[in-house]
Amino acid sequence: MRDYDVAIIGGGIAGLSLAYFLAPHRSVVVIEREEGLGYHSTGRSAAEFVLRYNAPEVCALAAISKSFFDNPPEGFSEVALLKQRGGVMIANAEKIARFEEVFAEESRFNPSLQRLTVDEAIERVPILRRDYVAAAFYDPQFWDIEVENLLQGYVRGARRHGAEIIERSDVLAPQRRDGRWVLATSSGEVSAKTIVNAAGGWADPVAELFGVTPVGIVPHRRTAITVDLTDDIDALTLPEINEIDEDFYMKPEGGRLLSSPADATPCEPADVQPEEIDVAWAAHYVEEATTVPVRRIFKSWAGMRSFAPDRLPVIGFARERPDFFWLAGQGGYGILTSPALGALAANLLVGAAPPDGFEAVGLNPLKFAPARLEA
Ligand SMILES: Cc1cc2nc3c(=O)[nH]c(=O)nc-3n(C[C@H](O)[C@H](O)[C@H](O)COP(=O)(O)OP(=O)(O)OC[C@H]3O[C@@H](n4cnc5c(N)ncnc54)[C@H](O)[C@@H]3O)c2cc1C
Repeated sequence: MRDYDVAIIGGGIAGLSLAYFLAPHRSVVVIEREEGLGYHSTGRSAAEFVLRYNAPEVCALAAISKSFFDNPPEGFSEVALLKQRGGVMIANAEKIARFEEVFAEESRFNPSLQRLTVDEAIERVPILRRDYVAAAFYDPQFWDIEVENLLQGYVRGARRHGAEIIERSDVLAPQRRDGRWVLATSSGEVSAKTIVNAAGGWADPVAELFGVTPVGIVPHRRTAITVDLTDDIDALTLPEINEIDEDFYMKPEGGRLLSSPADATPCEPADVQPEEIDVAWAAHYVEEATTVPVRRIFKSWAGMRSFAPDRLPVIGFARERPDFFWLAGQGGYGILTSPALGALAANLLVGAAPPDGFEAVGLNPLKFAPARLEA
């Protein structure tokens, strides 16, 4: 049996970012059920980095994470982790009042927003339908995240500091032995002093396995499709398109156009698959708001965005079990917040002060403590 300080359950972006930041200070094992890291939510995201349009706490986490994305440690990634994309927020004639409200609110904090005429919007996003768009503004602060490079950077760094990553191991029946947790894995038994729950959509059931009361994390299914762009459209320079109420969003993905109906259907944790109706809505929005003909759907998929009741991440020790730590509930922003949350979780686990950046943005990590949700 191999003994570790910390066993992290879940080999998605949450578990692996924590392994990266924690491995220099503690012995770490990551245990993942699937063959393939990032197989669930992490591998199904829209790879968007945005500084705004989320709860203030999430925007603060994004601001802290931005410096890591911009200046990762030497050797972390061979390519830039963020690529400038820009975003155009659009509204149709029925949503003008709502558009004005959002624009007024957002431009108070973001002087880089540019109001666009319909002509200017179409110049920036040549696929927009003139008879759909009634109002638009441009926000330069949208980026694409190189998710695979980010994930592999975390994996390499964690391994370099001795972390072990075990795949194809479903944590099913943990045991207590001599004051430690003992877990059966595909490469034998391991023991750990502390368990980290980074199980994404399965965070609540995993807590129950360890005798910890669930905090109410509910996975919500979200769907995306890709369709072909016409040859005259340059996917590299096309900005992201966001409906003002997030009824839908679209962005280039691998030379094609990704469209999501921004669905958020509560579901059981599973290898979720797209429902026909959500795929149909995704295609409908492409045809309604753009001139891109939907001749075929190249690919469709769905993934889980898992939320606590207050939609903030859950980071910290369980009150009833000081050897059980939550790193869950990252909702629709787990990739973009992973540098800040991985570093925060590592510091909390070793009893250190919050990492650089938290104080500067005035973010108190207690906001994320599971205690707020524990009965
Ligand atoms: C369509 C879509 C678009 C999104 N777009 C964005 C975006 O643009 N930007 C952004 O930042 N975020 C986005 N997200 C959200 C982001 O993908 C998630 O917040 C993030 O991936 C969560 O990471 P995780 O590691 O917690 O979960 P996961 O990646 O799901 O990892 C959890 C892992 O735990 C494992 N596991 C569970 N139970 C066990 C067990 N008992 N034993 C062993 N292993 C177990 C699972 O197999 C899984 O691999 C999007 C999500 C979706 C679905």
